[in-house]
Amino acid sequence: MKRTLYKTKVLRLRLKDKHAKLLRDLAGEVNFVWNYCNELQITMFNRERRFLSGYDFAKFTRGATKEGLHLHSQTVQAIAEEYATRRRQFRKVRLGWRKSTGSRRSLGWIPFKKTAIQAAHGQVKFAGQWLSLWDSYGLEAYEIRAGSLCEDARGRWYFNACVAVPIAEPRSKAGHEVGVDLGLEDLVATSDGEKVLAPQFYRGLEPKLAIAQRAGKKDRVRAIHAKIANRRRDSLQQFSTHLVRAYDIIYVGNVSAAALVKTPLAKSVLDAGWSAFRTMLRYKCDFAGATFAKVDEAFSTQTCSVCDSRSGPKGIAGLGIRVWTCCECGTVHDRNVNAARIILAAGRRRLAEGIPALLGRGRTSTHPHSSALPGGSGAFGRRSSICLSGFAIDVKPYWA
Ligand SMILES: [Zn+2]
Repeated sequence: MKRTLYKTKVLRLRLKDKHAKLLRDLAGEVNFVWNYCNELQITMFNRERRFLSGYDFAKFTRGATKEGLHLHSQTVQAIAEEYATRRRQFRKVRLGWRKSTGSRRSLGWIPFKKTAIQAAHGQVKFAGQWLSLWDSYGLEAYEIRAGSLCEDARGRWYFNACVAVPIAEPRSKAGHEVGVDLGLEDLVATSDGEKVLAPQFYRGLEPKLAIAQRAGKKDRVRAIHAKIANRRRDSLQQFSTHLVRAYDIIYVGNVSAAALVKTPLAKSVLDAGWSAFRTMLRYKCDFAGATFAKVDEAFSTQTCSVCDSRSGPKGIAGLGIRVWTCCECGTVHDRNVNAARIILAAGRRRLAEGIPALLGRGRTSTHPHSSALPGGSGAFGRRSSICLSGFAIDVKPYWA
C-alpha cells in the first residue's frame, strides 16, 4: 500500500471587522499572559539563574483561565511555549513587553492550539464565540493543527491556520521548464518573458503616501504601506500558482541582497521579499508534484542567452540598463528575461549532472560545483541604485 505524505501549509483568512473589539480584548489578555511569563522569567533568572521552558510555565499558569481570563487554557499554554521559544531563539534573558494600549501598542496576536478551535459552516469557533470570515479555502475540509489570530497595521484581523495537506506524486521530469530571475523593478521575470513588475504595487499610492507623510499622519502611512504589502503578496501568490500550473520544473536564481544594496534595512527587506517568493514556489511545487531548484545565477545578467558570450552590461556602467544588444550575435535582450534564460540553462546543465534537489525532491541545494557559467563569483554590482520603496515592509515577525 502506498503511503500518503503530508505537508504543513499555512492558510490565511480575513476575519470580519465586527469581531475586532472582541479580538482586541482577547489580545489584551494574551499580552497579560505574555508579560506574566516575562516577569516570571526575569524573577527566576535573578533568583536562580535559570531559564523556563514552555512546560515549566505551565505549572505557573495552571488555573489562570478560571481566574477571569477568557482565553482557552490551551491558548495560555501556546503563549508560554511561544515565549520560551522566542527567548531561546533571541538568546535573551527577557523579551520585550507587549503593550495593549497607547501609541506603541503591540499588534494583536492570539495563538491557539488544535483543541481550542473548531471550524464549521464558514465560521470558526474560538473562546466560545463563532467568528465569521471570508472562507476562500473551504476551511472545513482541512484538519487544523495550530495557528493564530493576528491583527495587521490597519487593525484588520486574520485567521492563520496550519493545516495538513497531502503531497502530490512527482510529475514526469520531461515536462515544461522555466527559469525565474528575481530583481528589483522586475520583481520576477521568467525565461518565457512573463513579468511581475514591482512598481505596480504602489501605483497610485505614492502621492498619497507623500501627502500622509508630510501631514504626519502615522495611521494613514501605515495603512498605505499595508496596502502595498497586500498587493505584493497577492500578486506573488497568483504568479507562483500560475508558474506551478504551467511548468513542471522551475529554476530560481539564488539572488541575495547582500551584494546588491548598501543599507542593512533595504537588504533585509529585499531578502524577505525574495525568500518569501521562493518559499511560496517551493511549497506549491511540493503540493503539485512539480520540481523546484535553486541555481547559482552568477553572471546571468552579463551572459548572452543566445551565443553564450559575456557581452552584457557590466559593473557600474551596466546599472539601470534594461535592454542591451549582444555585440557577438546582435540579439537584443531584455536584461531580466535574458537573466532568467541563463538561469534556465544553468538549471538544465545541473539537471544533466544530477541535482541533489531532484534526488531529494522539493529541497533546495547548494551544489558546490553548480556554477554552470564561467567564473563563478557573484556579479551583483549592477542594480543598487534602484528605488526600493515598494519593498519597505513585510519584515515584521508575525508575533511582534
Ligand atoms: Zn549573443
